[in-house]
Amino acid sequence: MKILKTVSLSKFFDGLKALNKVNIEVDRQTLTLIIGPNGSGKSTFINTICGFYKPDEGKVYFEGKDITGLPPNKIYEHGIVRTFQTPQPLKKLTVLENLIIAERHVGENVLKALRYSSWLKQEEELVERAFKTLEFLKIDHLWDREAYKLSGGQLKLVEVGRALMTNPKMIVTDEPIAGVAPALAHEIFDRFVELKKKGITFLIVEHRLDIVMSYVDYVYVMASGQVISQGKPEDVMNDPRVIEVYLGG
Ligand code: ADP
Ligand code: MG
Repeated sequence: MKILKTVSLSKFFDGLKALNKVNIEVDRQTLTLIIGPNGSGKSTFINTICGFYKPDEGKVYFEGKDITGLPPNKIYEHGIVRTFQTPQPLKKLTVLENLIIAERHVGENVLKALRYSSWLKQEEELVERAFKTLEFLKIDHLWDREAYKLSGGQLKLVEVGRALMTNPKMIVTDEPIAGVAPALAHEIFDRFVELKKKGITFLIVEHRLDIVMSYVDYVYVMASGQVISQGKPEDVMNDPRVIEVYLGG
């Protein structure tokens, strides 16, 4: 069974068909990539899957369950988590704090406990898990640094770390290496491949095809709200329709 499946998924903005009957299937434990020119509907697709937009038609199934039109918090409970750019208030927190507050059901009290050191066993375990996650992402040396002091790439890794703290089944990420230096961009995709081996599925929108193509398992190409090509990376890159939307304009 596919972990994610959309059937004829559509989203309209004032008559504009941002998504026009999109059928996308994602296999469990894969890195599935969505590419396409600017304005082709990639972000709209992700936002519709994750519940931030309600589709105008079509269905979304996750692990065989119909999740169409559920609000983001319900979709999150099914195990789909989206990475988010770190908002300003979180940038004042340290890297470790950023991971701790991302865990499910963690309230402000844990952060207070961190600050005033009234430790409970549960909180110790949470900190340990956050540290293990930072070690896995190879940013544990940055644990006490405020997020605003990080480089763009380091911040992207913190965002992945926050997603991981929720124990997701599927991570959805929009341009995870935008503006990241090549070495760190490769490092981020190496981590994604490691996480895939541990059982996590990735749905990724990314522009930097030179970097990502060697890591991903399957590619969908969108143009004008529709899927115009799909397949293994090498097949898609040789598809004349894909070459045309990228070069033909
Ligand atoms: P991509 O991520 O592939 O660059 P988007 O999904 O952001 O494309 O946008 C697809 C189309 O939908 C574009 O024409 C864009 O202008 C339009 N669009 C996206 N979001 C909105 C919105 N919230 N309101 C109106 N139009 C939107
Ligand atoms: Mg976009």
